[in-house]
Amino acid sequence: MIESKYIEGLIKSGKLGLSINRQIEFVAGRSLFSTNSFTMISGPCSVVDEGALEIQARKLKSMGIMALRAGAYKPCTYPVTKAHHSGWKEGLQKEGIEIIGRVGKQLGMTTVTEIIDPRDLEHAVDHIDMVQVGARNAQNYPLLDELGRSGVPVLLKRGTWMTIDEVLGAVERILYHGNSKVAICLRGVVGAPQYRHVWPEIRWAPDLMMIPAIKSLNSRIPVIYDPSHACGKRDFVGPMAIAAIAAGADGLIIESHLDPANSISDPDQAVTLETLGKILEKARAAYAIRW
Ligand code: PEP
Ligand code: MN
Repeated sequence: MIESKYIEGLIKSGKLGLSINRQIEFVAGRSLFSTNSFTMISGPCSVVDEGALEIQARKLKSMGIMALRAGAYKPCTYPVTKAHHSGWKEGLQKEGIEIIGRVGKQLGMTTVTEIIDPRDLEHAVDHIDMVQVGARNAQNYPLLDELGRSGVPVLLKRGTWMTIDEVLGAVERILYHGNSKVAICLRGVVGAPQYRHVWPEIRWAPDLMMIPAIKSLNSRIPVIYDPSHACGKRDFVGPMAIAAIAAGADGLIIESHLDPANSISDPDQAVTLETLGKILEKARAAYAIRW
């Protein structure tokens, strides 16, 4: 049942059609993405070495988290960072994807990672189970078209500027080519001016209302919430994670790290595995009573 006149108008005018009311439930690796089950994804923002990733992945698995997300292609805000001086240039790229793939296979975990360039897709699908489209690339049409043609499970992040029809339009682009393995990931939006929203270290405005908005379309597209990027600050990640689940999100993606303050990227928002465990426990309880 569609309750929004705005969305109804888009459908009547023929702009939107495929994703609305369409049943989407799929398996990526061994994880089920569905509007009827809770999915938890975690891992470090960036993979920097295989040993550390394996130690962390084992801990995640022992907590019952079966989906490992780590970054290999990291689009940073500035092309030159301090980390460059130690040889880390916006991620380990192909090597990073291979590390994530090996660790995931060894532990039987679902692997998720971002690619930016459609030319990297063939290599990525040889190693990992699910491709993340980052917020910066949520309207990168050659990438979305290629993902649609490939049939690989996709975690499509919402760009920080995107309206609901732009999000649904990006989903449609993947569906259109015959790939219905798509989950939407909300990760905070522009909340200008920043100092009014909370204070400057809070990176984005959590887009929690988009969860019931997408659900109200009776869409069966799984909605995953990413409180890490929405908040940018670890102390806020737990509360926003629980709020998202209570509001109806089907799962979470949370950046965690063995030593958060020393994470090579996004150190301010990474949580310890101990905190992640607490969030997971509360999220399961919130899932049971979600709206
Ligand atoms: C990420 O997931 O590490 C990331 C860069 O997120 P986003 O694309 O949402 O900024
Ligand atoms: Mn990150």
